[in-house]
Amino acid sequence: MQTPDYQRLDRAHHLHPFTDFKALGEEGSRIIERGEGVYIIDSEGNRILDGMAGLWCVNLGYGREELVEAAAAQMRQLPYYNNFFKTTHPPAVKLAETLCRLAPGHLNRVFFTGSGSEANDTVLRMVRRYWALKGQPEKQWVIGRENAYHGSTVAGLSLGGMAPMHAQGGPLVPKIAHVRQPWWFGEGRSEGQDPEAFGRDCAAALEAKILELGEENVAAFIAEPVQGAGGAIIPPASYWPAVKAVLAKYDILLVADEVICGFGRLGEWFGSVHYGLEPDLMPIAKGLSSGYLPIGGVLVGDRVADTLIEEGGEFFHGFTYSGHPTCAAVALKNLELMEAEGVVERVRDDLGPYLAQRWQALGAHPLVGEARSLGLIGALELIDPATGERFDESLAVGNLCRDLCFASGLVMRSVGDTMIISPPLVITHAEIDELVDKARAALDATLARLADTLTEPQQETPA
Ligand SMILES: *Cc1c(COP(=O)(O)O)cnc(C)c1O
Repeated sequence: MQTPDYQRLDRAHHLHPFTDFKALGEEGSRIIERGEGVYIIDSEGNRILDGMAGLWCVNLGYGREELVEAAAAQMRQLPYYNNFFKTTHPPAVKLAETLCRLAPGHLNRVFFTGSGSEANDTVLRMVRRYWALKGQPEKQWVIGRENAYHGSTVAGLSLGGMAPMHAQGGPLVPKIAHVRQPWWFGEGRSEGQDPEAFGRDCAAALEAKILELGEENVAAFIAEPVQGAGGAIIPPASYWPAVKAVLAKYDILLVADEVICGFGRLGEWFGSVHYGLEPDLMPIAKGLSSGYLPIGGVLVGDRVADTLIEEGGEFFHGFTYSGHPTCAAVALKNLELMEAEGVVERVRDDLGPYLAQRWQALGAHPLVGEARSLGLIGALELIDPATGERFDESLAVGNLCRDLCFASGLVMRSVGDTMIISPPLVITHAEIDELVDKARAALDATLARLADTLTEPQQETPA
């Protein structure tokens, strides 16, 4: 089969996730056929640097034979068995032990799921159940953040704060509220605030929401250490300490969604470690298996776990694929390789600082209002060079830049006019150089294209 054959069948039968079906049908999908290291190769033979590690998950890169072998060996031994009805199997037990060893000291239990969305469904059930068992059943409200992404099941969608998602498929799960996100460039800068004051204001907004709902009614606050899909939003340094203080003051659980930040992305095993958070629950997925097989889970702190265990009786929740043996075996091997190769330390001490230095230089580009990164996550905020302000949304400059990136051999994603990267954690210095060079070329091409568009009406005006 050739590219047009795949595209025809794809158009006829395949409804893609997060996609305008009709528009894609007209344009045709790009067919990705192979992966090697940090590169993907499409059906036309183009070699593309995957600046997004798939969807924030292929942390060890493509083509790791050890992971393939781990899957094959486990499938020969026991491809599937469940963890219901008083049974388990070696991969699930070993993975649970390894995760709890790598996680901060008070997180000693894990509940497995098939994905990050299922992990956040589990979170919602657990926090409400926890407070019910504690004799405070009215503590049901969960506070999330605007523009947050916590998955696409009904609970994930409700916990998340993406307005276009909320506008489809409601009503949402009741008793979930949202507060402002600590996105200084998008929201604090325009209000003329310095970043640290803005970070404190965001924490104050959380406190105000708690008081509005009544502290006796609020179960938990959920947030990513660094917001990924929302636009690689790295909060000001003042934000997390202030949020921690608010949560402690009102005895509200902290859920740190580590689906992206976990497993080395910020240069520590978990984003919570980077920021000194002590979350009660940590949903995980994505990098857990480097995306080779689907698996997620929730790491549960002693406070919640002890209550669920000692006072809870049966917890009526779980998935057919909770702790799937083949997925667990691959995740376990993935973590073993990361430890053996010192991947997390290399992100912290070498690759993160190197990317930061190269990435900062893009901040001087006329289209870029801010270049930020932490570990191996980064963002560029696009602005109109003429005014220093954001472009009109209708110009869809971010999408244009993303398409030009793809054309120049780089996957960089756009969230509005924020360009984001999250490359595999095994990227080399030379590959980081290539990534930055291609990003710069795409910015130049975007600027050239905009110059054409913006000058066109003048050419049409009769002199
Ligand atoms: C991707 C993501 C999820 C959802 O994970 P899925 O495996 O796609 O269900 C949840 N939270 C965050 C922070 C994510 O980035």
